[in-house]
Amino acid sequence: PSMNLARLLVDSADRYPSHPAVEFLGTRYTYAELRDAAYRFANALRAHGVAKGDRVAIMLPNCPAAVIAYYGTLLTGAVVVQTNPLYKPQELKHQLGDSGAKAIVTLDQLVPRVEAIREYTLLERMIVTSVAEQLPWPKSWLYPLKLKRSKQFVKVNWTETVTPWKTFLASAPASPILEPVDAVEDVAVLQYTGGTTGVAKGVMLTHFNMTANTYQNKLWFHKCREGQEKFLAALPLFHVFGLTVLMNQAALTAGELILLPRFEAETVLKTIHKRRPTVFPGAPTMYIALINHPRIKEYDLTSISACVSGSASLPVEVQERFEELSGARLIEGYGMTEASPVTHANPIWGKRKIGRVGIPFPDTEARIVDSETGEELPAGEIGEVAVRGPQVMKGYWNRPEETAKVLRDGWLFTGDMGTMDEEGFFAIVDRKKDMIIASGYNVYPREIEEVLYEHPAVKEAVAVGMPDKYRGETVKAYIVLKEGASVNGPALEAYCREHLAAYKVPRYFEFREELPKTMIGKVLRRALIEEEQAKAA
Ligand code: ATP
Ligand code: MG
Repeated sequence: PSMNLARLLVDSADRYPSHPAVEFLGTRYTYAELRDAAYRFANALRAHGVAKGDRVAIMLPNCPAAVIAYYGTLLTGAVVVQTNPLYKPQELKHQLGDSGAKAIVTLDQLVPRVEAIREYTLLERMIVTSVAEQLPWPKSWLYPLKLKRSKQFVKVNWTETVTPWKTFLASAPASPILEPVDAVEDVAVLQYTGGTTGVAKGVMLTHFNMTANTYQNKLWFHKCREGQEKFLAALPLFHVFGLTVLMNQAALTAGELILLPRFEAETVLKTIHKRRPTVFPGAPTMYIALINHPRIKEYDLTSISACVSGSASLPVEVQERFEELSGARLIEGYGMTEASPVTHANPIWGKRKIGRVGIPFPDTEARIVDSETGEELPAGEIGEVAVRGPQVMKGYWNRPEETAKVLRDGWLFTGDMGTMDEEGFFAIVDRKKDMIIASGYNVYPREIEEVLYEHPAVKEAVAVGMPDKYRGETVKAYIVLKEGASVNGPALEAYCREHLAAYKVPRYFEFREELPKTMIGKVLRRALIEEEQAKAA
């Protein structure tokens, strides 16, 4: 049988045709409707010359078209390239050029951004929907994308190669199409890494990789009731975390996907209160924003049974406070684009350990190893996390040397430093690249940040290494204070001194209104470090 990843949708549509599949600001698609729209899209792609193995970029915020285009592309055997609509021209040029995408689906107001870099790409076709068609949002939701509210299409130059979304869909029948694939070899999604530490790399995730991780998630979430769960999608679907734990997971379990085009604390609280979702995966920054919302107690959050936090470390304080305020269970997991993405999680209803990322997923092996020799280290020691399992990527796209560095004998070297305890629970200490070397000691920023998060005035904290003549590097902390709270650098330094060894205590503090972040809410240390370097130069 074909293991095309799009089977997740097709199978659920066969079994639950009239169940809600997508809900978006009051618009609903049933499973049959979603599948038929995806069939149309797939047939239209084919008619326009897109064949198996070709790359199709999708540059949309969460909206129905993003889901339809995703499954539609997979049905043809073409490869999905998820493109962040917030990308700057340089990033967009890199991704569209690097992937060699032949077609792109995007919004009218984003067309000029694509046109500006089109000469560096192999794009043959643009399929364009509009803010008016997809996103009848409040203005504030459009702000990060710099989109304008509009009741009509903004002016697009409709040439031979630029087609309106609705025309494109209407041009082809909803007849079934499901291209057979070699699940282990054929790439389903070319997913670019977060770009937190450098240029984003294209990760080849096969149909088997993605299908496996979706099933692993389902096993983990063993109380999941088929056809009954509602998934709150505040995470972007173009990021691998949302892609697997929301879009694919909902399809596999015939659940309903409640789409939000942007994370906004107030909207999330209202949506939970009104729409009663049962599953709400998120990034730590989302839970931080929610627990700091002044009116969180006025909303009924009890429909949520499970929240899974991933993509960055979840401060212990935040986890405890969120569970207290919501009554939901919040567990931490771990993964990366290169692993489709999840490799570890705490059991949702079993024994868990706060402050740890949990145990390996079903059918996943994990070890702590010496980065150089690859030798396994004993429990308790810090080393690099290495994983092996069906969700581990085929390799990086067009980067054989990079692939050889991280994939050795089927083991993925994650670049993250961690430990494993006697019971097999893993903890992530930090990224290898973020480690600070102060006076010859290894300092992991995360340990410092955990201490700072416990301070009552601190809302967000990040520690980075600054070049220092005497110590090699010295620690600087950037702080965002809670609303109405105040504390100064010397007081925080004194506080850190009580909880940390001297060489770990930050020597500099800088207070900010907000921190630079990636779309998924990871603090961009790189941007902070570059700022410092620019100042020094
Ligand atoms: P790039 O590889 O381009 O620098 P990135 O690593 O941020 O970007 P992703 O694949 O989205 O891109 O993120 C995976 C990384 O996120 C992991 O390697 C790890 O460093 C971090 N991470 C994920 N979950 C956790 C967690 N629970 N605790 C700590 N770190 C985490
Ligand atoms: Mg990475």
